[in-house]
Amino acid sequence: MTLSRKTSQCPVCRRTGHLILDLQDESYGTRFALHACTACKVGYTYPCPTDEELRKIYSGEYWARETTLEKRGGLARRIQSFNNIRLAMMIRPLVNKLDPGMSILEVGCGSGHLAAYLSKCGFEVEVTDIDESILEEIDTRHAIKGYCGDLTQIDFMRNYHAVIFNNVLEHLPSPGRALEIAAGLLHENGVIFIEVPNINSYQFKVFKAHWFHLVIPQHLYHFSAEALDTLASRFSLHRIWQSTFSPKTSAAGYAASLSPVLQPANLRKNWSKAMIFIYLGLQVMALPLVGLETVLGRGAVLRVLYQKKRTD
Ligand SMILES: [Zn+2]
Repeated sequence: MTLSRKTSQCPVCRRTGHLILDLQDESYGTRFALHACTACKVGYTYPCPTDEELRKIYSGEYWARETTLEKRGGLARRIQSFNNIRLAMMIRPLVNKLDPGMSILEVGCGSGHLAAYLSKCGFEVEVTDIDESILEEIDTRHAIKGYCGDLTQIDFMRNYHAVIFNNVLEHLPSPGRALEIAAGLLHENGVIFIEVPNINSYQFKVFKAHWFHLVIPQHLYHFSAEALDTLASRFSLHRIWQSTFSPKTSAAGYAASLSPVLQPANLRKNWSKAMIFIYLGLQVMALPLVGLETVLGRGAVLRVLYQKKRTD
């Protein structure tokens, strides 16, 4: 197949994809674009970043670690407490499906805040991540077992009642393979929880290349509800719940899309109190818009629960 800036081969189904949005600026020395597949509807970053580019993207501190936040003092701790409340609301639909003591695997646990919260809720939590040092930190502080590496290379030797991909699936080179493995790890009636940015959202329509949750080239894939359902159905996963609102990320999408200085990674660099209050204030002001986009089913985020269809 001849590849151009306007057409490409869909990395999921190998059929033809088309240009949706050409980014004007280069990142990591490459000019990327958003393409979408006409057949399976998935959006993807084109060209796909090279291994070298991915290494650069994930070098340094990608997440806000607990130990780093603690060094920042009172304000950081209060923000983290507020974030933990939002995290608890975000994961509530999954928690409601489980009984205490059930097992959960969180894929790509990042900072580990969600895993720590679920562990405190009484679930048996295990995590995966590509960062060995963060896994050690989570194990030491919360006694949570971690597996280092790519989901495709880990031998779990067990099953789980739930698998979580919290803003992770869009980062993976093969989200289909990841979902297939997760589906294979589930106990009967087990569930998969996914949160990803919603490319079919009003926020993307308004902000386009400046949309905070677009994050090209870090995000390799860009899902709509239809694309995610199509991918999940390949592995006998059917949707049992869905929302286009996330307490953790929806309002932040408006605030952080307005200017790069209001993006959390930049706020964490200098901890300017004024900027943090502006950032939080803008999120409060955005709440009516968040309510409206959610009612119309076009919110910034897809939060979805999938269950494996019984084979009998
Ligand atoms: Zn496709």
